[in-house]
This record gives sequence, structure tokens and C-alpha cells, in this order.
Amino acid sequence: MSEDANPFESLQSQIDDAAAHLEVDDDVLERLKHPERVLETNLSVELDDGSLRRFTAFRSQFNGDRGPYKGGIRYHPNVSRDEVKALSGWMVYKCAVVDIPYGGGKGGIIIDPREYSEAELERVTRAFATELRPLIGVDRDVPAPDVNTGQREMNWIKDTYETLENTTAPGVVTGKAPDSGGSAGRVEATGRSTMLVAREAFDYLDIEMKGASVAVQGYGNAGWIAADLLEGIGATIVAVSDSSGAIYNEDGLDARSVRSFKNETGTVSGYDGAAEEFSNDDLLTLDVDLLVPAALENAIDRELAEDVDADVIVEAANGPLTPGADAVLTDRGVHVFPDILANAGGVTVSYFEWVQNRQRFYWTEERVNEELEEIIVDAFDALTDTYEEYDLESFRTAAYVVAIQRVVDAFEDAGTFP
Ligand code: NAD
Repeated sequence: MSEDANPFESLQSQIDDAAAHLEVDDDVLERLKHPERVLETNLSVELDDGSLRRFTAFRSQFNGDRGPYKGGIRYHPNVSRDEVKALSGWMVYKCAVVDIPYGGGKGGIIIDPREYSEAELERVTRAFATELRPLIGVDRDVPAPDVNTGQREMNWIKDTYETLENTTAPGVVTGKAPDSGGSAGRVEATGRSTMLVAREAFDYLDIEMKGASVAVQGYGNAGWIAADLLEGIGATIVAVSDSSGAIYNEDGLDARSVRSFKNETGTVSGYDGAAEEFSNDDLLTLDVDLLVPAALENAIDRELAEDVDADVIVEAANGPLTPGADAVLTDRGVHVFPDILANAGGVTVSYFEWVQNRQRFYWTEERVNEELEEIIVDAFDALTDTYEEYDLESFRTAAYVVAIQRVVDAFEDAGTFP
């Protein structure tokens, strides 16, 4: 597959690769490779100067065999129909691998949000929510934040839906502010699942976590929480980076103090506890026990993968390895624990948020963290059992085998209508 493969074709070939290990009929497999429906809509929105602007928006509902469609809404100029379809498919498998009762969906608007005022963004979001209204709902399809959307947009979608439906339905979206029905522990959940997967992986591979050297690429929400929690279980964070560059100290960087520095200055570069500073690519090829890519997709390509010197990679970011890099690292025996498990803490605590919204009863952060740990550890065990049982080449394939089998079982249990 080429390095810049169409994301929808990448998804379909991942499904084919994993399904080759399973006894899935071709006609059922064909069904699993296409979204059930895709909404494409043109939103006409009045700008602050009174002119009208058209924005193309999509919502893909990929598969609902295991429960309501679930997945984020992104605002980005590069959003496309194929990207949204692919991302919605990956959500199906992410929810299935951690065994939460959701299908997969994803949405997006072709927009650069930096070019619009807050009032314009609110009108765009409410116009999209109006188009989405017949498709979404607590038991139908539950959107969440993604790139360039957050609590603010979720609150607008929830309010539009509730106003039009004349009801209260906090569970129609997740990722809300705590005062609007958000969950304790949601902000930390993605980094927490990354730490838990790394902890379980080291135990499985019989590598000591205490004193293990760790490099973290990307020091945003997912990366910094993972670094902080890994430090808490005895690892030494030797290097971290952000878009400004990387910092290194063989004796360890203090995760919280680096975060405070970044909060004050906007970057990790210039942190006075660093012994050295170098480029982002240098961080990715450090000789470390654990590498955590937590920035953007396609951070490591085939060429760079030849120089990666980590023993274990735990993917906090979505899709940080190109398909070519993945093949090289598998050949080289680097243990890669895939994104659909290692960052699934985010969607898992979204699920807890939805459960709490339905119950109208809110959990403590301690309970959220305990329930999350149980789900991630169970999912890790299912993945490694499958890896051994099928004698698979990678933990990524194992994750897809587990997930596809669960979706197929749900489909076959239900039978076909009409
Ligand atoms: P974020 O915007 O908070 O942080 C991203 C960080 O990456 C920033 O520090 C940025 O400076 C850095 N970065 C950008 N380009 C870089 C480069 N070339 N080299 C090094 N650092 C670079 O984003 P986030 O929420 O932490 O998300 C990070 C990744 O995790 C994304 O792939 C996202 O899809 C994935 N993810 C996040 C969540 C979540 O709940 N936050 C859930 C699932 C997956």
C-alpha cells in the first residue's frame, strides 16, 4: 500500500487482513467494509457581514450492530467524505475492542475555524445540528468532540437538539463541560488508557517498568497525561516534544514541571531541566524502552521506522504509523500496541458519561478510573490471548481480529431484516 493511501482504502485493507484469520463469509465481510449511511449536506450560514456562506458537512454511520453509532465531529479544511467514512469505521473497531456497547460514526465540516468568529461558528454548529437531528439521539447516534471541536460545540449541539425536540437529553452528545453533564476523569482518560496499556504490555513482555526510559512525542492532552501517569508508576521520562522541538535528559524530566513550563511559555523548548534539545525526528529514533507517539497521524513513515530504536511503542495518537512504517516495525520485532486500544480511554469515559446521563446519577472520579482500568485490562488480556491463539504477526492484527469477531457475532445473533 502506498504511504499516502486513501484512508477509506486503508481501513478496508485492515479489515481484509484481520478477517483472513477468521471464518467470516465474504458477503458478511463486504457489509463490514462499507458505511450503513452517509449524510452529506450543504449548510447555508449567514456570516457577521450579512453574506451567505456554504459549508459542506458529513456524518457517516458506519455500523450499528453493537449499539448506537459513536464518534467525534471534526472541523478542518481537509475533511472529506472518504476521511469521515474511514474514521467512522475505525470507531466501530475501537468500541468493539474495549467491548463497549456502541457502533461507530464520525462527522466533519469542511471549515478552517480560525477564519470565523465565535458567533459564526455557533451558527455553523447549530445549522449542522439541525441537519443531524433526525439521525442522532441518545439511542441512535451520539457525537463527541474531535479535531478543533470541544465542550463548547457539544453544548451547542445538545442545546439545538433539546430545543427542537422539546426535551432534555444530555446523553445526545458526550465530551460536554462538567456543568452540562460531562464526566469526571474525561480529560485524563486518553492518557490514562495509554499508561494502563504500557503497564500491561511491560508486564506481558517481562520488562521492568521501574526505571524504564520513555520518550513522548506531543505534549498535549494525551501526551502529557500519559507522561505524568507513567512517571507515577516508576518510569523515567527522558524526552518529550511538541511542535517547537524536543527536550532530553537522561536522568529524567519532571512531567508536571515541564507541563507548567509549557503552560506559561507555550512550548517545551527552553525548559531549564533539559540537558539537550533536538528535533522531533531525533526523539522518534532515541534508544528507549518505550516510545509514545501522542501528536498527529503519520508521524513515523517507512524510512524513519528503519531507525526507530525503541523496544515497545504504545500509540496514544490515532494512526501515528504509516502502513509502511507498521510493516517495517513488525518485521524488525518492535512491539507495537495499537491506537484502537491504547487511546480508547477517551471513548470509554465518553461511554461512562452517557451512562451517567441516562441514569442522571454522577460518579466520583475514583469510580470512573476504577471502571476504566477494568475495561482496559480486560481488553488487553483479550488482545494478547488472541495474539497467541492465532499466532498473529502483530498486536494490531490481534486487536482487529478481536473487534471484527465481536461485530460479526452481534450481526449474526441479530439476523437479517427484512
Ligand atoms: P493536543 O492538541 O492537545 O496535543 C497535540 C500535541 O502534539 C501538541 O503538544 C502539539 O504541539 C504536538 N505536536 C504537533 N505536531 C508535532 C510534531 N510534529 N512533533 C511533536 N509534537 C507535535 O491533542 P491531543 O488531544 O493530545 O491528541 C493527540 C493525539 O491523540 C491525536 O492523534 C488525537 O487524535 C489522539 N487522541 C486524543 C484523544 C483525546 O481524548 N484527547 C482521544 C483519542 C485519540
